[in-house]
Amino acid sequence: MINANIATLAAAENESLEISTKNLNCVDCHNPFIFTIGEQQFYRNQGFSHEPKRCPNCRTSKRLRNSNKPMVATEITCVECGIRTTVPFLPRNANEVYCATCFKARGYQRVVANRV
Ligand SMILES: [Zn+2]
Ligand SMILES: [Zn+2]
Repeated sequence: MINANIATLAAAENESLEISTKNLNCVDCHNPFIFTIGEQQFYRNQGFSHEPKRCPNCRTSKRLRNSNKPMVATEITCVECGIRTTVPFLPRNANEVYCATCFKARGYQRVVANRV
């Protein structure tokens, strides 16, 4: 019984010692990078079971690229005025999509309606 407890304790200690810097390869620039202990702990705390695929440089530039352009651009026809335009989201119901102008106008109408 005591031996079993010691074994469990040793296993738990090994697990915490398991965290060490890892050498990974970036999928974007193919350069090796280090997955630091701090980052591994961060990943663990976030509940991520995967390892980062990109080096810090590529991760940063990817984030910048993503923030510079809209995630999606869907071409739609406004049901109100009928113009062809794009919206920066994926409409749930393509039959009920408004252009930015009509959307704003509708929102305004709703606000006014709520006030009355
Ligand atoms: Zn990279
Ligand atoms: Zn419109």
